[in-house]
Amino acid sequence: MIEILDARELAQAKESGALVGGILQSLKSRTVVGTNLLDIDQWTKALIAEAGGQSCYVDYEASFGRGPFGHYICTAVNDAVLHGKPSDYQLADGDLLTLDLAVSLGGIAADAAISFIVGETKAPEDLAMIDATERALAAGIAAARPGARVGDISRAIGTVLGAAGYQINMEFGGHGIGSTMHQDPHVSNMGRPGRGYQLRPGLLLALEPWVMQDTAELVTDDDGWTLRSVTGCRTAHTEHTIAITPDGPEILTKPSA
Ligand code: MG
Repeated sequence: MIEILDARELAQAKESGALVGGILQSLKSRTVVGTNLLDIDQWTKALIAEAGGQSCYVDYEASFGRGPFGHYICTAVNDAVLHGKPSDYQLADGDLLTLDLAVSLGGIAADAAISFIVGETKAPEDLAMIDATERALAAGIAAARPGARVGDISRAIGTVLGAAGYQINMEFGGHGIGSTMHQDPHVSNMGRPGRGYQLRPGLLLALEPWVMQDTAELVTDDDGWTLRSVTGCRTAHTEHTIAITPDGPEILTKPSA
C-alpha cells in the first residue's frame, strides 16, 4: 500500500520526524566509551514515553526477524549493520555504532538512523564509510522531487556508494512510511532511473543507504534479528524520513539545532 498524506497528517509527520531526530541526537550525545547498549535502549524507551510517542519496534514481528523485537531502538556495532538487537555490551573506544529508530506520534511514524564512532579512535576507513552513506543519502534526497521516480532516487544513492567503492546489497533498502513504519514503495539502494513509482506531494519516504566495507552479503546473528557482514567487516548506515512536497523534498528527521 502506498499512502499519500493530507495536510494534517503531514503536519503530524513533521512532529514525528522532529521527535525521532531529536532522540537520536540526544542518544548520540549521551553515548560514551563504556555505555551499555541496554542503557541506550532504556534511554530511548524513556524519551519516547516522555514525548507521548509509541515505539514502532518493541512489538514488531517481521518476516526477517524471530519473534517480537522486544526493544526500542536498533543498536548495530562494527560488523552489525541492520536490525541490531540491543545486547549486554559495553561500547569500546573506536566502536562504530549505528542507532536506528522509528517512533509513531499522533498516528504517523518517522524513521531515521545515524552511524558514528564512539570515543577518540577514529579509523579513516570507518569515517570514509560513514561519509559515503551520508553523501549517498543527500544525493537520494536531492533526487526525490515531485514527478521523479523511485528509480531516480535509487540511482542517485547507488551512484555515490558505487563510486566510493562499495558493493550494494539489494535485499534491504528504503521504504514508504506513514501510518505504519514499513510501506510500499521499496527504495533500493541501486536502481534504474526513470523506473518505478512516480513521486507525488504527500508521499513520505525513509531513505537509508548502508554499506559494508568489503562485501554485500549478510548473515543473521544467533539472536534472530541482527544482520552482520558475512566477512566480519565493519559497516555504516544513514537514514532520514523525507516528505515529498510541491517544492521538493523536505527532511523531517533532522536533529534539532
Ligand atoms: Mg527504515
